[in-house]
Amino acid sequence: MPKLITQVGCPYCGSSCDDIEVLVSDDGRKVLEVHNACIIGNNLFHHANDSTRPMLPRRRQPDGTMKEISFEEAVDYTAKTLLAAKKPLIYGFGSTNCEGMSAVGRVAEKSGAILDNCASICHGPSFLAIFDNGYPSCTLGEVKNRADCVVFWGCNPMHAHPRHTSRYSIFPRGFFTGKGQMARTIISIDPRETDTAKLADIHYMLDQGHDYELFDAFRTVLRGHDIPDMVAGCKKEDILKGAEAMKKARFVMIFFGMGCTHTDGRNHNIDIAISLTRDLNTHTKASIMAMRGHYNIAGPGQVWSWQFGFPYCIDLSKGTHAHMNPGETSSIDLAMRDEIDCFVNVGTDAGAHWPIDAVRHVKKHPFITIDPNFCMASEIADLHIPVRIAGVDEGGVVYRMDNVPIQFKAVLKGLSGVPSDEELFDMIYERMCVLTQTEPVWLTAKDDRKYPSPAVI
Ligand code: SF4
Repeated sequence: MPKLITQVGCPYCGSSCDDIEVLVSDDGRKVLEVHNACIIGNNLFHHANDSTRPMLPRRRQPDGTMKEISFEEAVDYTAKTLLAAKKPLIYGFGSTNCEGMSAVGRVAEKSGAILDNCASICHGPSFLAIFDNGYPSCTLGEVKNRADCVVFWGCNPMHAHPRHTSRYSIFPRGFFTGKGQMARTIISIDPRETDTAKLADIHYMLDQGHDYELFDAFRTVLRGHDIPDMVAGCKKEDILKGAEAMKKARFVMIFFGMGCTHTDGRNHNIDIAISLTRDLNTHTKASIMAMRGHYNIAGPGQVWSWQFGFPYCIDLSKGTHAHMNPGETSSIDLAMRDEIDCFVNVGTDAGAHWPIDAVRHVKKHPFITIDPNFCMASEIADLHIPVRIAGVDEGGVVYRMDNVPIQFKAVLKGLSGVPSDEELFDMIYERMCVLTQTEPVWLTAKDDRKYPSPAVI
């Protein structure tokens, strides 16, 4: 009998929907149906059925082809390559669970690596602004139940976080927002007429790259001062109208995305957005939230902050203490300055999503990809190690975009012999300990591991 598994988490976008239902075959090896997910989530679960998923690591041969090798050989190669490197970079982690993120911390510390995640090319500027200016934020439940004015600044959830608007921000009928969409004023700030903008009551089609000026204008108006007739391509009367709508609301929620973090000003756009949120709190209640991209990209910020005190761009090469300085210790900057001599791509696709010059630089050195699927990063790697898919055939903890932790389930039985990220990193760590004749101090309490001891490799 096929089995319907309920309250499943979707491992794709930062909405981290946890109301998915998945019908699996009676042997627990195939996804038959997916209910409640958007088209992206639906596709993700069905993709796990792909019979061509890699089950063994592949190592590049001298003639350029890839040849399958055992997990033991892959673990040995990775441990030796990391130990031989002077400054390895371990990067990615948008798409894995917190257990994997924690396990890699041990490997990074042991190899004196730089440990970085996709925030570096995504919401990293938001972190910098938060360090400077604080983060007056809330949970998505607060938004659903209270927000009667929702601002989408430089983000397009209808495409990037498809169920965000129906679960949290526009359509749901909350405790104090019983009329759903009718109870909310929606404001979109975007140079394009996106599908989110089409849903909005007010759309500011600002000049691209002039967000800071528009934030500044809203602040100026809220503080009772005059502004020019046009700011950032928007009319004064429209800005006054939006400022009034925010002031009159009972709870204003500002969501922001790549339109702010990837354009001129970067962290300063977020700085001033946070200041605007503060200003609004002198009139009403207001809150702000980054539209984090991947379902667990908030995870490394949490896990590594507990482990090392920093959320990303963590330089462990000193051996005695961690150091963080985006611009100096951020992945793209390190790659462009050719400062790293080994690259490990985990749960992301730097091959597809990094600037090509940065990819060319890291390609000069050993390049290892740890990923459940074939992707650009796996195809240019010297070694590709497959792992189980977190949220599909491996459970674990993930942090939603509002930093609420959610326990995700495994809905399928994992591919035979393929480890999870956590198991793989523990194997690599233990192998590094054997090679350096040191005690695997982190693992002594872990007597439930499912892989063979590297001592016998
Ligand atoms: S909105 Fe995001 S988390 Fe929810 S089902 Fe779609 S892709 Fe998955």
